[in-house]
Amino acid sequence: MDEIIFRNKNVPDSQNIEVYSGRGGYSALKKALSQAPDDIITMVERSGLRGRGGAGFPAGAKWRLLTKYRVKTVYLICNADEGEPGTFKDRYVMEFDPHLLLEGMTIAAYATSSHHGFIYIRGEYDWIAKLLVKAIEDAYAKGFIGSNIMGTDYSFYIDVFRGAGSYVCGEETGLIESLEGKAGRPRLKPPFPAAYGLYGEPTVIHNVSTLSYIPFIVQNGAAAYKAIGERMSGGTALFSISGHVNKPGLYEYPMGTSLRDLIYEAAGGIRGGRGLKAVIPGGLSSPVLRSNEIDVKMDYQLLNAAGTMFGSGGIIVLDEDTSIPGIALKAARFFAHESCGQCTPCREGTNMIRHLMERIMTGEGTPQNIEQMLRLCRHIRGSTICAFGVAATLPVEVMIRKFRSEFDAMLPGRPV
Ligand code: SF4
Repeated sequence: MDEIIFRNKNVPDSQNIEVYSGRGGYSALKKALSQAPDDIITMVERSGLRGRGGAGFPAGAKWRLLTKYRVKTVYLICNADEGEPGTFKDRYVMEFDPHLLLEGMTIAAYATSSHHGFIYIRGEYDWIAKLLVKAIEDAYAKGFIGSNIMGTDYSFYIDVFRGAGSYVCGEETGLIESLEGKAGRPRLKPPFPAAYGLYGEPTVIHNVSTLSYIPFIVQNGAAAYKAIGERMSGGTALFSISGHVNKPGLYEYPMGTSLRDLIYEAAGGIRGGRGLKAVIPGGLSSPVLRSNEIDVKMDYQLLNAAGTMFGSGGIIVLDEDTSIPGIALKAARFFAHESCGQCTPCREGTNMIRHLMERIMTGEGTPQNIEQMLRLCRHIRGSTICAFGVAATLPVEVMIRKFRSEFDAMLPGRPV
């Protein structure tokens, strides 16, 4: 089994900088500093590394965009907000291998000519924020970050910023607004952060696990990374598997591993020997798959072709006894609560969906209510500032479409 992020898993005291550097840590940074920044960008482009935060945007392409703006200050932000329900991968990296992240950030910063980075971490991860601050202090003391890193003329400084636990601060412009001290409300785009980001300067933003792949790519080359996955999606991914499985947990497997193998081999199958009803494959905002759709490979394109998405790799497994309308209600309540409120369709529409789902679940619904929800879902999408409009509506719409009989059964006069 190929492991990149789990390289130091089960190594005692893996957070310790001596342990990390003793196992080859920071040697990729040394190698990177001996090369031209453009060569590192080319290497990351060739590796095919895609963002692991949800959107799956190619990392190298983001860096290439930044080269247009090198005359200005460039900021690097690590998105450690990890707010997608069903996702718990970034906390592993930060808690057990924080120097892997710091090394990846420093290489990314060098390649994009950035001298100042931020780790934006959700407020609920308070103990991890403290661990990160300690790791950063240790790296400064060793000369791995800070002024004249490893005796070169390159300097890079990192600050940790705690968010307040808002889902939409995981959206990159909402995060930037929050980092600037304002309410975390997403910006209209364009301009994109590569041109106008933090304090109006060019900014590159990556998820924790995306940055943590960089040291491997620099150390082993783009081809070695690409050879692990398949098709257009190279490398491995961290899969957070939760729900009705025997062994819920975090697993690292090559991109392209089938959803069935992850559920039945990695996570030990369905709890209590029950049957499988459905799977949410990429965090709560990804559309649900039926039990007969799980032979799909965990690959960006193949999941899109199957009508869902890779998302954050947060796999939520639902057994045969699960009420899909119950899950839809939980999703509707969550998204109505997390809307930042600046677009009317999202603010009002998500609350309407929540209200209609509550009517249906309490036996007060009508067939028209189900049609109203479907109409609202369609109308909200495409009329909002950020992708939250899609995240909040597509999962509910697909649950209704694929499991309509369960919703109909909740209506008065129908057998439940
Ligand atoms: Fe805020 Fe929703 Fe509009 Fe996004 S879509 S900006 S979360 S109101």
